[in-house]
Amino acid sequence: MYINGRPAESAGGGWLPVYDPSTEEIIAEVPDANAVDIDAAVRAARAAFDSGPWPQTTAQERGRLLFRLSEKVRREAAQLAQLEALNCGKPIVEAEFDINDVATCFEYYGGLATKVLGHVNPVPDNALSLSLREPVGVAGQIIPWNYPLLMAAWKLAPAIAAGCTCVLKTAEQTPLTALLMAEWLEELGFPPGVINIVTGFGETAGAPLVAHEGVDKVAFTGSAAVGKIILRTAAESIKRVTMELGGKSPNIFFADADFEAAIDGALFGVFINQGEVCSAGSRILVERPIYSKFVEAMTAKAKTIRLGAPLDRETKMGPLISKEQYERVREYQEIGKAEAKLTAGGGRPKTFSKGYYVEPTIFADVDNRSRIAREEVFGPVAAVIPFDGEAEAIRIANDTPYGLAAAVWSRDIFRALRVVKAVRAGIVWVNHMQPTYVEAPWGGYKQSGFGRELGPWGIEEYLETKQVYINLNEQPIGWY
Ligand code: ADP
Ligand code: MG
Repeated sequence: MYINGRPAESAGGGWLPVYDPSTEEIIAEVPDANAVDIDAAVRAARAAFDSGPWPQTTAQERGRLLFRLSEKVRREAAQLAQLEALNCGKPIVEAEFDINDVATCFEYYGGLATKVLGHVNPVPDNALSLSLREPVGVAGQIIPWNYPLLMAAWKLAPAIAAGCTCVLKTAEQTPLTALLMAEWLEELGFPPGVINIVTGFGETAGAPLVAHEGVDKVAFTGSAAVGKIILRTAAESIKRVTMELGGKSPNIFFADADFEAAIDGALFGVFINQGEVCSAGSRILVERPIYSKFVEAMTAKAKTIRLGAPLDRETKMGPLISKEQYERVREYQEIGKAEAKLTAGGGRPKTFSKGYYVEPTIFADVDNRSRIAREEVFGPVAAVIPFDGEAEAIRIANDTPYGLAAAVWSRDIFRALRVVKAVRAGIVWVNHMQPTYVEAPWGGYKQSGFGRELGPWGIEEYLETKQVYINLNEQPIGWY
């Protein structure tokens, strides 16, 4: 791990195995952090925030640190992408995109560091009222395994730009790229304790981080189930919390959509990154006139998706992250078979003797009330649901506890924009699904969470607002 500017092992002496999900073999062991380690990391972050060079660091200097980190990530991009693909099983080509986004994220917040502005408040009388923006303090950050280094960047970049210090816990499955990046922090000039990276399980390392009195703010991306636990714990010390949780996002296709683009968009929306995407378009709503043709075309194309080794450049879909996730997705494949009509996949691909591979799976004629349409699978399982007309599309789209994302496909701009306004979600794409840019806000409605990451919204979550009231009247108050 990386605590207070130095490599660290767990105080308990424990190690946890890290796997290559395409071979099921152990490729590394990392410290299995416990509450003692978390305490050390939080103390380091606390000390760095409260004293030492960090509070005196200017916005320009914080920005430059992030620029240097961004440049380093770009220089080491090939190595990082390989490690990411190896550890989480995603195709190397996708991992390369991720690493580029990591660098861009550090760059963006490096620039934003010097653009955080206060206010002059228009109060009456003989006073000057100012709003100052100040860092919220020590951030405890907990991230998932589907975009390991990108999620780390989304958390660290705005926090550093704001002047916070960080304890980031990687997902237990995917600690490697964050640990590699940690090795560079000292030479890049980050003072000790400003960024601490800890590795460990949710219950033994994540939970004590959330509970720790020295943590001011918790930023979490992960499952709704864990989000609820974190919210309860954070309530004890009224921590600031932001949550990016799951989804069951509708990808809505009207009959007038460009058919070829629609089929591509439906597959991309749900199968990219093995479907291990919080915004996966896992409910595919298709208007009745094109429904049969759509299911047929989508099914045919899904069967051509190339599964393979993550490091093979031809691979379009790698293995799932872990045995646990593999079993979970296999179970949903079986649940789906009992609830709807299987048209593609539905099991484990026969060509692989090892690795957590599952077939891209499509269920058609799905009822939106069924489990396969309501529960987040977090794997390559699509539920195709027919609808009649705009009103029904909107009703089905919103009939979910989640609200992270949605997409609508149509050539009719009036209808597309009506749907955009009617769907309750943090992002609605029109004639695309999944592009995500650091300049634009990201986050959920409803049970998909709260708070926004990325763009200027992302840094807001790491800032407090202090009002300064300056009396301009030299006379005594004269009340008593
Ligand atoms: P998944 O179901 O895909 O494993 P999780 O929500 O469990 O997703 O994991 C996301 C992150 O939350 C991981 O870093 C994990 O270690 C962490 N986590 C899991 N349980 C807890 C918990 N009780 N407290 C804090 N963090 C947790
Ligand atoms: Mg978990």
